[in-house]
Amino acid sequence: MKSLPREQIAHLPTKIEPLKNLTEALNGPKIYVKRDDQTGLAFGGNKTRKLEFLVAEAKKQGKRTLITTGALQSNHCRQTAAAAARFGFDCILILTGSEPQFPSANYLLDQLFGAEVVFTDRRKRDDRLKEEYEKAIIAGRNPYLVPYGGSNSTGAMGYVFAIQELISQSGDFDWIIFPSSSGGTQAGMVVGAKVFDLQTKILGISVDEDEEVLRDRVKLLAEEVIHQLELNVEIKSCEILVNAAYCLAGYGVLTKNELISINAFAKEEGLLLDPVYTGRAAGGMLDLINKGFFKRTDKVLFWHTGGTPGLFAEQFRGIIRE
Ligand SMILES: *Cc1c(COP(=O)(O)O)cnc(C)c1O
Repeated sequence: MKSLPREQIAHLPTKIEPLKNLTEALNGPKIYVKRDDQTGLAFGGNKTRKLEFLVAEAKKQGKRTLITTGALQSNHCRQTAAAAARFGFDCILILTGSEPQFPSANYLLDQLFGAEVVFTDRRKRDDRLKEEYEKAIIAGRNPYLVPYGGSNSTGAMGYVFAIQELISQSGDFDWIIFPSSSGGTQAGMVVGAKVFDLQTKILGISVDEDEEVLRDRVKLLAEEVIHQLELNVEIKSCEILVNAAYCLAGYGVLTKNELISINAFAKEEGLLLDPVYTGRAAGGMLDLINKGFFKRTDKVLFWHTGGTPGLFAEQFRGIIRE
């Protein structure tokens, strides 16, 4: 396997903890959590693992500015802004939506990290990103384009090696459950499982896309990861497990599903989920448990991808407690 430049940023390995109370309360499979909400960079999350490879690539190419895009409350943008601050890059963020009167949560943190923010509407996002990128080139700022969600093959490498880390901790889970959106996390995991021979079923709970779109996205990314690592393996569509039953309300819309999981994890385990990603995926997991999807003897690993600052976003004020 080809070796790639990597910057050490995350606090690794992240812990795996049993969720004894939830397991007991549900009378279901044995539930565990992998704490990628504790990757250490500015409240942590899955983007930190991706940034280890993205920042290293930017440094190697002699870039001076990180530029990326996301939602107003993007966890990816918050972690990118923090990494930029740490490694001495300027940071430009193209955020979708309009400037809020009172900065909160991730957006407040973007500002603390000194990121320059450009607002745009969702439809114009990619054009605006390109425009700002070209402006930065002309201005001699030597920008490095970090893709949406950190999800290109370079970013996805973080999760190839997260699977190697998991195997070194314990390889005997039956399922991995986690929120999947731009696909980099899942693509990395799927390739990692293939390369390091992990048999665990990897089920992404879609946050915002229907099944086919997400599966195709993950497959394409996985193929790019394989190519970049110069591996001789193949990923079939049927090996990419996606459940899109919990995203019908749309991205970032708080439903009963998220409310149930956020409150259950908090009350039973003292563990925080976020309203957009992990709340949605954990809600899906609880629903699947209630429907008897897993065997009682299964060991299920909920891979916590972070996002907890979202609990304090203006849009969720007063509606998160059940
Ligand atoms: C970005 C993000 C995800 C989704 O990861 P992808 O690699 O984009 O699929 C999941 N959870 C949280 C908290 C995130 O910020």
